[in-house]
Amino acid sequence: MIEALPNIQTIFFIMIFIIMYIIEFYCPNRIWQTARYKRLFTHLIVAIINSIILYIPRLIFLIPILLLIEEKQLGLLNNMDQFYFIEILLGFLFFDFAYYWWHRFNHTIPFLWRFHSFHHLDTHLDVTTSLRFHFGELVLSVIYDIFLIIIIGAPLELYIFYKIILTSSSHFHHSNIKLPERINDLLIYFIVTPKYHTNHHTVEKNTRNANYTSIFTIWDRLFLTCKDSNDADRTLMGLENRDLELDLVKSLKHPFQKKSNELL
Ligand SMILES: [Zn+2]
Ligand SMILES: [Zn+2]
Repeated sequence: MIEALPNIQTIFFIMIFIIMYIIEFYCPNRIWQTARYKRLFTHLIVAIINSIILYIPRLIFLIPILLLIEEKQLGLLNNMDQFYFIEILLGFLFFDFAYYWWHRFNHTIPFLWRFHSFHHLDTHLDVTTSLRFHFGELVLSVIYDIFLIIIIGAPLELYIFYKIILTSSSHFHHSNIKLPERINDLLIYFIVTPKYHTNHHTVEKNTRNANYTSIFTIWDRLFLTCKDSNDADRTLMGLENRDLELDLVKSLKHPFQKKSNELL
């Protein structure tokens, strides 16, 4: 069963992606300036490159560490004398809290921003943006994951479960879906919605360097980074450099160039 968990994660990843892609077609919020198939094609290439590069660190480091922690019952969660459900809930909240800070570090530490800016170079926002992460950022996030897993002694099923919800949330909040205002206003008390995450993709720095949370919006409210934008700013997404949306070679090389910190 344990061996099947990463495959279940992949199935969910693809399934939710396809569902969001279809819903976007029927209920779009913004008109696409670039053909959807071009964006899909470009970002699928990114996803394929990432899964090839990440295969090795996941196989050699991440999975063995998860299995070792499971086998030896190491870490905080494994040694807690609580109901299994409580442990999973606490572990889930811990991961989401830690991911809030990971995203915040990606905006505030210049070295990390070099890689994360690749995600923000997209001048549109739709479900394909959730595939657009630089492999450098993802390799660093595997190291961060290993650090978190060791601290709390996360069971494999908790880690996979969190990742499934995280990627589903990411597909959802990047999607170009028009949600009724009332539903959006209700949901943002609890979770990140497409409109909420659009605030984070504005060229305007005040809201871009805020709204970091990945699933639960409570972290932004708790750490005072919940900042609403306005309709005008929300139509202008990306960074000052607006030519790299589909230019994969240039934008993948971007973190390694001397001047890329200027975008911070
Ligand atoms: Zn960001
Ligand atoms: Zn994003």
